[in-house]
Amino acid sequence: MSVATGHFINNQRHDDTDTFEDRSPLDWSLKLADVSRGNAETADAALRAAHDAFPGWAALTTHERGRYLTRLADLIDRHVDDLARVECLDMAMLEESLRLRVIARGARNFRAYAELAQNYVPRKWDSNTTHNTVLRMPAGPTIVITPWNAPFMLSTWKCAPALAAGNTVVLKPAEWSPLSCSLLMDLVAEADFPPGVFNLVQGFGNEVGAALVAHPLVRRISFTGSPETGRTIGVAAAQNLVPFTAELGGKGPFVVFADADLALAAERAAVMYDDAGQVCLAGTRLLVDATIKDEFFELFQSALRRHVLGDSRDPTTTISPLIHPTHLARVEGFVERARANGDRVIFGGKRWKENGLWYEPTLIEPRDNAAEIVQREVFGPVLTWQTFRDEHEAIDLANSTAYGLSAMVFTRDDARAQRFALGVRAGTIWANCFLIRDLTAPFGGIGLSGVGREGGDYALDFYSDLKTFQVKEETTNG
Ligand code: NAD
Repeated sequence: MSVATGHFINNQRHDDTDTFEDRSPLDWSLKLADVSRGNAETADAALRAAHDAFPGWAALTTHERGRYLTRLADLIDRHVDDLARVECLDMAMLEESLRLRVIARGARNFRAYAELAQNYVPRKWDSNTTHNTVLRMPAGPTIVITPWNAPFMLSTWKCAPALAAGNTVVLKPAEWSPLSCSLLMDLVAEADFPPGVFNLVQGFGNEVGAALVAHPLVRRISFTGSPETGRTIGVAAAQNLVPFTAELGGKGPFVVFADADLALAAERAAVMYDDAGQVCLAGTRLLVDATIKDEFFELFQSALRRHVLGDSRDPTTTISPLIHPTHLARVEGFVERARANGDRVIFGGKRWKENGLWYEPTLIEPRDNAAEIVQREVFGPVLTWQTFRDEHEAIDLANSTAYGLSAMVFTRDDARAQRFALGVRAGTIWANCFLIRDLTAPFGGIGLSGVGREGGDYALDFYSDLKTFQVKEETTNG
């Protein structure tokens, strides 16, 4: 199978002479592609295409736009094997999980937003003699910038509501995993989208990415990635006063109370190493009631036996390699600094093989809560282990980092779960489960974990200009 590596603007491929190398984390000696390296001119061409296509796309009914989105969803479902194979080679996510869940979720994103946009019931109310209606208008050309982990799912999660709302889109995937989104553009052409409605540019963040977000034709920016880049993009958005959302990093607490189903909690805790821990929503800080810590630790260790490090194409593998040698070095750096700080490495703490990008599942007991390993996102298979004495301390520890993306609590006491949900600073809280997502629910983070909410109508509102339309019954007395 071959994947086009140029930009996709106005439904045409544009190959740059300037390129960057894309290698496979499964075997770093394997060069997958030379991918076009966009610049300010590329950004300008893509935005002009999106700008020109906007009036026509915005003028379609939600039903007409929905037909394009549904057609694209059908094509994704039909090409799920190719998309899964490409993304597996490109970023090393487990192929089976891509095939069965992640790519299918991409198709679902388009279907869900096609329906939601069509089912929109404008808010209407009467106050005294005035009839009020909220009108949702397409906002304009939208930039979607996504990170290297789960690039297909995360890109479709943002592009689908933007398109359904009537906006045109320029997508820039991350330079470490650019291929599955490129394949998506072949399907956009096959679905016969009007030229300029859905565009893609490839390249580096500080080059084409920075040019996109600073461009005066942009009306919305949706970013997923690190807090550092989120800040830079926020500054660019502020320059042009463009609304932006940012879904950023996480350092979720995973809290186990003594009254929990400990076997279930241990099994879910082991899941935090899936995808080599490169999951923003993961609960990477295990916080365990001191009275059951030994029992829970034993159950956790036995749950970990199901993990198999290996090639992500092999269905028996559960832990893939990390995305890139630079990222592996970053993860190693965190663990080395933790050791130097006097934190205790309980298990793991080293590469699996000298000649690959795998890192062993690692558990670290920090010297204290101020330790860097507790306070900063590692984005690898590294969890921390801490205990608490009571509910107050559990909530205090859960809230003790600058992040606030997700939190998990395991308890059989519904009232306690409710108190935890009210007390914890996080955009999503799961009780006795993990990663269940309802696409209509608001999604986003607090603090370092992000700005704004997407998901369901929250996303459609963000990608729209909301207007208030007021009609007064009496017209003579003012
Ligand atoms: P990153 O911030 O380095 O890059 C993300 C994207 O931003 C890339 O496409 C990159 O090219 C682009 N970029 C970089 N500098 C830019 C600039 N100046 N202007 C415009 N674009 C620029 O993040 P990453 O390393 O690719 O991804 C990992 C991070 O993403 C982690 O922190 C992870 O937690 C976070 N993440 C968050 C969510 C969420 O939903 N909250 C989901 C997935 C990943």
